[in-house]
Amino acid sequence: MKTIEKKLLVIGGGPGGYVAAIRAGQLGIPTVLVEGDRLGGTCLNIGCIPSKALIHVAGEFEKATYFSGDHPLGIRVQSPSLDLARAQKWKDGVVGKLTGGVGALLRKAGVRVVQGWAQVVDGKTVEVATREGEPVRITCEHLLLATGSVPVELPNLPLGGPVVSSTGALDFTEVPKHLVVVGAGYIGLELGIAWRKLGADVAVVEAAGHVLPAYDEELTKPVAASLRKLGITLHVNCKAEGLTDTGDGLRVRSAQADEYVLPADKVLVAVGRVPRTAGFGLESLQLDMAGRAVRIDDQCRTSMRNVWAIGDVAGEPMLAHRAMAQGEMVAEIIAGERRRFAPQAIPAVCFTDPELVVAGFTPEEAQQKGIEVKVASFPFAANGRALSMEAGEGFVRVVARQDNHQILGWQAVGQGVSELAAVFCHSIEMGARLEDVAGIIHAHPTLGEAVLESALKALGHALHI
Ligand code: FAD
Ligand code: NAD
Repeated sequence: MKTIEKKLLVIGGGPGGYVAAIRAGQLGIPTVLVEGDRLGGTCLNIGCIPSKALIHVAGEFEKATYFSGDHPLGIRVQSPSLDLARAQKWKDGVVGKLTGGVGALLRKAGVRVVQGWAQVVDGKTVEVATREGEPVRITCEHLLLATGSVPVELPNLPLGGPVVSSTGALDFTEVPKHLVVVGAGYIGLELGIAWRKLGADVAVVEAAGHVLPAYDEELTKPVAASLRKLGITLHVNCKAEGLTDTGDGLRVRSAQADEYVLPADKVLVAVGRVPRTAGFGLESLQLDMAGRAVRIDDQCRTSMRNVWAIGDVAGEPMLAHRAMAQGEMVAEIIAGERRRFAPQAIPAVCFTDPELVVAGFTPEEAQQKGIEVKVASFPFAANGRALSMEAGEGFVRVVARQDNHQILGWQAVGQGVSELAAVFCHSIEMGARLEDVAGIIHAHPTLGEAVLESALKALGHALHI
């Protein structure tokens, strides 16, 4: 059997694994990365990127449709139509550009890439059944697990036929007539809204009492209102029971125990994701687990010396930027740097319409930690930029310590607020106080002025409300 020996072996070429490998290569660490499927992992191939590309297509198509009616902006479009095959090709092109870029970056960093599924032999050895046929044995000093996650399946709604996960829902070749989405979390709402805008009749079934139940209702209310405006029907406090015998409907049970049927030619199951820890011999290492995730410390070390885990395989929050930050850190620790993973804020953005962004503590989280806080919100209804781009409902909210005004968290909901994630995190990580943000000149007219105004409002002297 062919053998390869490197200081660092990374299993998984998603954002966690490929970033770790690039950084390790930059630092001169001999590195090999094993990927069984496509470089870029879930995020680039079947997650963040294709979903945002599809959301963009849907948004543009909706705009065109919107302008086909009588519109105050005076724009008139004659009955727009959608060439879905062409749109999918464009989306796949965006994915191809980025995944090709990852391959080039790995080569530039001197990382050896082995295509094939890794089977863990022990903490320093894996075997790979390569695509070319001949198996390879790789030995290493450090083993980095970056195997990601897989969708949760519901026993009464197994994937197959009309029942799809996000992967299937990104690749529909026809706009479904009736799409039922099970789970009103990130995936369900992002993709449910996109397919609604592309013309599907969409219903969302959610077990909890409101959409995006991880966030407070004040924050999710504008999203729920927009769903209603888009004509998406919401079935909260409801559970999916299974397909009807004819296979063209979903049986749903409400909290009052009524059962009814929603017409469905496609059902998207989006009820969460679980770490990928099975099927490649990981069990043999008998690592300590944290639920279904590999347990890690604040340097991403597992319970076995020189075995590391990053990204989705190490549990929540399952976000690409967290995986990347952990990957970069592990490479630097292996190179001898002193690093710890202790961010004050890992931002989370929901690319719904309107968008929602959360960074640091919400008022509720601060309260649970026993911290007395000042909370202030500034509505986009009083922001010139939001009005001039028909941004609709939304607001920015700040959470700061009552005693010294240090900013602990920001939340926002509204059109285009995803781009505020950076300023939110900067102020939190730099230990800014309300007075610091209030003293910065924010360009006019921008959505960022709502950030300034919420800080001013928390200090008791907002100017534009
Ligand atoms: P992954 O990206 O899952 O990569 C793991 C890789 O390991 C895979 O390529 C897999 O093939 C490979 N692998 C696994 N086992 C083996 C083995 N034994 N041998 C060889 N290779 C192996 N996050 C965001 O931050 N923003 C978003 O907008 C966003 N949108 C999303 C939309 C969707 C539809 C989905 C499904 C997810 C989204 N996410 C988003 C989450 C994001 O994709 C993940 O958090 C991120 O991909 C995790 O990176 P990772 O490197 O840990 O794992
Ligand atoms: P999620 O945890 O965001 O949402 C799952 C939803 O399904 C929850 O609202 C839950 O209450 C509901 N649910 C659970 N069981 C149910 C049942 N039997 N019937 C009805 N509803 C049920 O999970 P997701 O949307 O599948 O996304 C998985 C992960 O992928 C996310 O946690 C996130 O980490 C990542 N992701 C991130 C982004 C982003 O950053 N923009 C986008 C997509 C996915």
